[in-house]
Amino acid sequence: MQTFKTIKGLREALSAERAAGNTIGFVPTMGALHEGHLELMRRALRENDCLVVSIFVNPIQFNNKEDLEKYPRVLEEDSKILEDIGCQYLFAPDVDEMYPEPYKSEYDFGLLSEVMEAAFRPGHFNGVAIVVRKLFEIVEPTTAYFGEKDFQQLAVIQQLVKMFEMSVKIIPCSIVRENDGLAMSSRNVRLTAHERQLAPKIFQTLQKAKKLRNVLSPEELRRWTREELDAVEDFNIDYVEIAEDQQLQPFQHWNDASGAILFVALFLGKVRLIDNVRIF
Ligand code: AMP
Repeated sequence: MQTFKTIKGLREALSAERAAGNTIGFVPTMGALHEGHLELMRRALRENDCLVVSIFVNPIQFNNKEDLEKYPRVLEEDSKILEDIGCQYLFAPDVDEMYPEPYKSEYDFGLLSEVMEAAFRPGHFNGVAIVVRKLFEIVEPTTAYFGEKDFQQLAVIQQLVKMFEMSVKIIPCSIVRENDGLAMSSRNVRLTAHERQLAPKIFQTLQKAKKLRNVLSPEELRRWTREELDAVEDFNIDYVEIAEDQQLQPFQHWNDASGAILFVALFLGKVRLIDNVRIF
């Protein structure tokens, strides 16, 4: 595997791949790699001639200083994992390399900018859009892979690609979970032992909620889910929402159509966790 800290170095290597007619699969990450990331990468390796992984903790997408400071950074371990799975290119730039000057672009994702993560993390998706657009311009991938764990992020990126008529193909990938159901996340290592024991209750509740879809209205199901999660003293809920899977607008009636997803975001101690399940 070749590791690049500079945009120029990576661009040169990738232009040789393109000149050879090779397809480029790309998985952008913030590192502290886990099985969830690796699923995306294995798929990218299967479907492309080469794989580029980026590891960059993007400061401008954090709206919480402590979250940014405490975000796990383990580049050496990550690098070994990437070697083992057969990744060809690691791009691990410093902040100065990505942002030599302050960035000012403002993106408007319409309805997607108004709900859930966008409402609770002001500026978050703008920061995501800036970095992903820049990474796409550097890597020029054939295909890029994103996890449905960050469902709204995926929707924002799909919209970004449409907005700028980018040629990259976006592939959504299912959520990878621990054996006890907890959605894998780099932030999980920050949970205390006690919090780690409580965390699977999130997915358990989402699964129970799914079973109630035929007896409760969307509003009743939102309320039921919120109450169930609220009963866990250490959970501090940001939102519980049932939304359609395109513009992520709140669902009012099951007969509206298919594509309802139940979303949750909550704090467990100091760690913010998100998860979702498809209801219909
Ligand atoms: P991150 O490093 O958290 O920015 O994540 C990088 C990519 O991996 C994003 O597309 C995430 O949605 C995806 N990802 C993170 N956790 C999971 C998971 N548990 N299952 C599937 N994809 C994931």
